[in-house]
Amino acid sequence: MSDVRNVIIIGSGPAGYTAALYTARASLKPLVFEGSVTAGGALMNTTEVENFPGFQEGIVGPELMDNMRAQAERFGAELIPDDVTAVDLSGPVKTVTDSTGTVHRARTVIVSTGSQHRTLGLPLEEELSGRGVSYCATCDGFFFREQHIVVVGGGDTAMEEATFLSRFAASVTVVHRRDTLRASKAMQERAFADPKISFAWNSEVAEIHSKDGKLSGLTLRDTENGETRELDVTGLFVAIGHDPRVELFTDVLTLDEDGYLKVDAPSTRTNVPGVFAAGDVVDHTYRQAITAAGTGCSAALDAERFLAALT
Ligand code: FAD
Repeated sequence: MSDVRNVIIIGSGPAGYTAALYTARASLKPLVFEGSVTAGGALMNTTEVENFPGFQEGIVGPELMDNMRAQAERFGAELIPDDVTAVDLSGPVKTVTDSTGTVHRARTVIVSTGSQHRTLGLPLEEELSGRGVSYCATCDGFFFREQHIVVVGGGDTAMEEATFLSRFAASVTVVHRRDTLRASKAMQERAFADPKISFAWNSEVAEIHSKDGKLSGLTLRDTENGETRELDVTGLFVAIGHDPRVELFTDVLTLDEDGYLKVDAPSTRTNVPGVFAAGDVVDHTYRQAITAAGTGCSAALDAERFLAALT
């Protein structure tokens, strides 16, 4: 049986690495499970990040995450590029099992497993991510000045993204499978009143086209009669929701009505003493690298105070 550690951190995005940096500098010797496939988190799949403070000229996502990783490691964080496959969070000593079946024990656990944006599942979608296809208007809207853009979705997020993008874009077409929106009345009215926003009702994206490695257009299909038409756009924002990575925790940690981990805000405390949560697995509102890093810091400080109160 392994020694009982002070802190285990699950997840290696901005939230996990920031929690690792703070707990390492507090001499808590954190053990971080980075995940086997996407160590470094969501920003490993993007190019320019222009809105993380401190990088005047911007920085590419993987480089930002490599820097965060190295900074945490410099202060003694132990990083394992593996998945956590099971947890037992009950009791004063929590257990975390990795993919080899090894069981690790700790007095506190910080959950920072992020969330996965939903995709359309179309050919070329992944290849063109960051080259015309985006899942975050706040992150990428600025790159689409004076361009013609499609936003897919009919909920609040889609309306918010469309309204935000209309500040930059030449035009925004909202593509929605039905003839009514799910978004709140207020969000709908704001979008309807925006002269740059139009709606393709009862429509879905059937095909993505590319030229020179960038998005060059879309084929839309009518969901009622199957007819198709071409749309000459250079931006596609997919706003059909996110799935927080909570599968390991659903039987023990409380979720909010949207399926995200619930914390005792403004703290990062979950319903289980000694278990804290940070980043996009909690946050369905902001979903930014800087906010994830911020709550990662909060989780580290909450864990530190929890441990101090045990002695
Ligand atoms: P994530 O970064 O998602 O990291 C979660 C980590 O947990 C992953 O490494 C995953 O492997 C790991 N994990 C999950 N389950 C397990 C498990 N069972 N065991 C071990 N590890 C596990 N934000 C900005 O501020 N600016 C931008 O320009 C920007 N661009 C973006 C571009 C793209 C394409 C995407 C997808 C997002 C972008 N974002 C941007 C949003 C930003 O990436 C996220 O808000 C941020 O990464 C969330 O951080 P996080 O630490 O909560 O989770």
